[in-house]
Amino acid sequence: MKNREINRSLPVAAIVVPCFNEEAVLDDTAAELIKLLDAMIARGRAAPESRIVFVDDGSGDATWERVLIHAKESRLVAGISLRRNVGHQNALFAGLMEVREFCDAAISLDADLQDDPGLIPAMLEAFCAGKDVVYAVRRSRMGDGWAKKASAFLFYRLMERMGADLPRDCGDFRLLSRKALEELGCFREPDPFLRGLIPLLGLPSETLFFDRRPRKAGKSKYSLPKMVRFAANGIITLTDWPIVLIFRLGAGLFGVSLAVFFWLLSAGWAGNGWKIAAVSIWGAAGLILMAAGTIGLYIFRIWQRAFGHPHYQIREKYFFPENPEEKYKV
Ligand code: UDP
Ligand code: MG
Repeated sequence: MKNREINRSLPVAAIVVPCFNEEAVLDDTAAELIKLLDAMIARGRAAPESRIVFVDDGSGDATWERVLIHAKESRLVAGISLRRNVGHQNALFAGLMEVREFCDAAISLDADLQDDPGLIPAMLEAFCAGKDVVYAVRRSRMGDGWAKKASAFLFYRLMERMGADLPRDCGDFRLLSRKALEELGCFREPDPFLRGLIPLLGLPSETLFFDRRPRKAGKSKYSLPKMVRFAANGIITLTDWPIVLIFRLGAGLFGVSLAVFFWLLSAGWAGNGWKIAAVSIWGAAGLILMAAGTIGLYIFRIWQRAFGHPHYQIREKYFFPENPEEKYKV
């Protein structure tokens, strides 16, 4: 199965959906995706072996129970349950790695129906026309608040300024061919920043646009601290910019202190010399802490890598109940 040709006329599609405590929205998502995939199969746009694969990222609610119910009711639904909550990127990575053996193309989207599934047929069409990567870019984000919109806007522009090759306003709604999935599997980042890694593959790609919808139900699982960590992770994965910034800050500070030193020499210390000294000590201490923290983050990455931590562990799979290949059974 592994070395078979990629089928670009009637592809086996895998729709990969990471879910963390999504019991409130899962039934709607499953219904919408099943309807869509069914129609695509009926119209000869996707092979009948195509599947919707829910990846339960160690949810504490009834997400996995809901997935099992749908998997038993519909032959199109499969599920993977991870042992613990490993985060969105790792859960998505788990799903993509697990489906690569059976599918020709994997489409990833969020469980909350913010990514418009209506775009999937067009994405698959681009794949059939020869693309290995199809990005779905948000034209608008109706459902998100101003803080989310502003932080996303700043994040993508800042990454661009720092020289990272990151498709603008493109989340994790995208299609990857089996070839792209196999090559992605060679990246060994401990916490992969997927949307930044995929452009590094250098495969033929296409960009489609959609309007991001409001969440159908449930609440966002990205709290502010999680978003800050996510952005920091992106910066660390893709760029040495923080280190360069620290170096420039250091050089600037050194230059300024030299200038102040000569200015003080010529004007004399009279009166406020101690104030300048105190402020400089605090400034220097802050700078040293920032520098140490930044370097520490990189070292942390090396440390994680040295250990070779697995991205995820699978507790249970519910794959293709009627598939004759034993290994896909629970
Ligand atoms: N998610 C996940 N693990 C986590 C957090 C989130 O698998 O630890 C999933 C979540 O269920 C959803 C997707 O990642 O399918 C995006 O999360 P969410 O919609 O909460 O983020 P937002 O759209 O608010 O950025
Ligand atoms: Mg969302």
